[in-house]
Amino acid sequence: MTLNLLNQSESQLASALDSKTTTDSDSATPSAVRLFPHSQNDANDLLRPQFWSRFSLSELNHSEWEALCDGCGSCCLIKYIDDDNVSDDNNHEAEMVEYTDVTCQLMDCATGYCKHYATRQEHVPDCIQLTMENLPQMMWLPSHCAYKRLYKGQDLPSWHLLLTGDAVATQQQMRAANVGVAGRCISEIGMTDEEMEERVVNWVQP
Ligand code: SF4
Ligand code: SF4
Repeated sequence: MTLNLLNQSESQLASALDSKTTTDSDSATPSAVRLFPHSQNDANDLLRPQFWSRFSLSELNHSEWEALCDGCGSCCLIKYIDDDNVSDDNNHEAEMVEYTDVTCQLMDCATGYCKHYATRQEHVPDCIQLTMENLPQMMWLPSHCAYKRLYKGQDLPSWHLLLTGDAVATQQQMRAANVGVAGRCISEIGMTDEEMEERVVNWVQP
C-alpha cells in the first residue's frame, strides 16, 4: 500500500493543509469513505482545505476519500472475525477480531504495499473495496484507520500525513506508534490454516 498523498500533487496537498483560518468556525462532522484506496486519482478532484474536518465522509470527492488512507496495510492482514458475537449493529469491535501477521498473497511484505494494486481484483477477487455503504460493517478495521476514526466521530491520528504535511515525519511517527505491516508480515502463500492460527499478533487492534 502507498501513502496516498504521495500520489497527490504538491499543490493539492498544500491546498488541503492550508486554510485553518477558513475552517475554525466550521463544525467538524466527518463521516465515511473507501478501503483499499490506491486507484488512480481523478485529476479534477481537488483536496479541499481541511476537508477531513469540514465535510462528512459522504461529502468527500474521490481524491479526498483516497487521501485518508495512511497506507498502513493492516487491512490486508488475515484476521479472524467471530461473527457469532457480533452485536445487533453489526459492530465488529476488539473482542471479536484477532489479527495475524499473515498477509494477502499480493502484499509485498518488505514495503507494505500491494504489488498489483491497480489490477488486484484479477488476482484476489475478494479484495474488499471500502465504500460509504460497507464501512459500517467494517469496524474490524484497526483503531488508527482514518476511515473508521472519522466514521466514529474521532480525529485523524496525530501522525497522519494530512496533518503533518511531511511524509518522512509521518512514516517515522507511524513506526514509533507501532503502526504498519512493512517489514514484519509474512505472505499467506504456502501457509496452512493451522500455521496461520499460530500467528495472531497484538500490534494491530480494532
Ligand atoms: S487500515 Fe485503513 S489506513 Fe490502513 S491501509 Fe487499510 S484503509 Fe488504509
Ligand atoms: S489484493 Fe491483497 S494486498 Fe492488495 S490491496 Fe487487496 S488485500 Fe491488500
